[in-house]
Amino acid sequence: MDLKTLTIKQARKDLDAKKYTAVDLVSAYLEAIKEKNSNLNAYLEVYNDVIAQAEAADKRIQNGEKGELLGIPLALKDNILVKGRIASAASKILENYVATYDATAIEKLKKSGAIFLGRCNMDEFAMGGSTENSAFGPTKNPYDTSRVAGGSSGGSIATVASDIALGALGSDTGGSIRQPAAFCGVVGMKPSYGRVSRYGLMAMGSSLDQIGPVAKTIEDAEIIFKVIEGKDNFDSTSKESPIEKRQNKKIIGVPRKILEEKGISEEVLKNFNESIEKFKSAGYEILDIELPRISYSLSVYYILMPAEVSSNMARFDGVKFGTLAEGETLTEDYMKTRGTLLGKEVRRRILLGTYVLSAGYYDAYYGKATKVRSLIKKDFDEAFKKVDAVLMPVSPTPAFKIGEKTSDPIEMYLADIFTVTANLIGTPAISIPSGFTTGELPLPLAIQLIAPYMQDEILFEIGKDFEKLK
Ligand code: GLN
Repeated sequence: MDLKTLTIKQARKDLDAKKYTAVDLVSAYLEAIKEKNSNLNAYLEVYNDVIAQAEAADKRIQNGEKGELLGIPLALKDNILVKGRIASAASKILENYVATYDATAIEKLKKSGAIFLGRCNMDEFAMGGSTENSAFGPTKNPYDTSRVAGGSSGGSIATVASDIALGALGSDTGGSIRQPAAFCGVVGMKPSYGRVSRYGLMAMGSSLDQIGPVAKTIEDAEIIFKVIEGKDNFDSTSKESPIEKRQNKKIIGVPRKILEEKGISEEVLKNFNESIEKFKSAGYEILDIELPRISYSLSVYYILMPAEVSSNMARFDGVKFGTLAEGETLTEDYMKTRGTLLGKEVRRRILLGTYVLSAGYYDAYYGKATKVRSLIKKDFDEAFKKVDAVLMPVSPTPAFKIGEKTSDPIEMYLADIFTVTANLIGTPAISIPSGFTTGELPLPLAIQLIAPYMQDEILFEIGKDFEKLK
């Protein structure tokens, strides 16, 4: 079997036709992991029971059980809980933390018969856009190992991009699935807020977080999505899938003004314009749209997200979770634990969040940002009256060099300019490979589609149309 060209869809056919067994399949992956992972640093842990999981799947296949993911090997982001296994969020503070229950997405995958190969590297607690904030070293980009894989789900994405997993789960609070997917040339999707249960996902920004699929093709991403989505009683913000599916009228909106933002690379722009032409050739109508307040997205995100982070991170005090770095007094315990076991970026966001929520500043920052958030949403609601989806770049540049932005947090935050909006307004969004840069080591490029709230299916439909054009 050729892991490079293998898709979930193909593996399903092969497994059902008994061309090979799940044990054969995972053995091939374990072999590939051995060869590639030490260089890429994509997996933090490869599980030691992969073969046993595959044997169980083979039994189910032999018994005639059907299921799209039965026997399919996937990789997991290290902030999603799997009962009895370590979930560290790539942080020293949780280095030895063992989850006591399954996340709902995991429970659904287990039922479907998917096999978990291991847990993947990420920015600590998902805070970052390059996986350089991991306490366990950065993940490298499979296309050029001097560059970042993106983040925060860099590990998950790199496993799929380097053929050491068939698909993966990531999480996306402000672009953490879509941006690394763009940097590594795979499909990454952030579902509508509430479409996939957040139960068992370590909270970063609770009003923004979503678990989502990573895969090589749109079809594969859709297969994973269908298994993990749905209302869940353990997450009161989760929702039933919509009964009324919007009809795809093949109209795509382009907010041209955002392309004037400084910092967009020539190659991203050129590729974006070429992608528009591709859509036209597939019979799509391209409509220029105005999203007057979209340019405030990044500022709003970097107020609301840290506010939620500061409150969510309060639980990591060394007592309830994880490791304790002991001091002389209780206050010293907290200071030492949080000061030594949490990384710099995590501490920065806790401070920022505490500040924007503090008395006297709350209205000026948090309150105002909340209002602007609804205005941005209103702009999109207007646009979606006319268009089925909005087309934007994913990232202003292709994958950057390891170390290039680590000394300047603002530079790093600016890279999130096109991805945070979908999280603020709760809409589904997807990153789709759209070509490569020219040059000695070509780097992947991607486009982003954003669909109306709860109309996640539209993204798969349009995505498949686009994929065919390559
Ligand atoms: N890069 C963004 C940030 O640093 C997004 C992170 C995410 O989606 N988890 O906040």
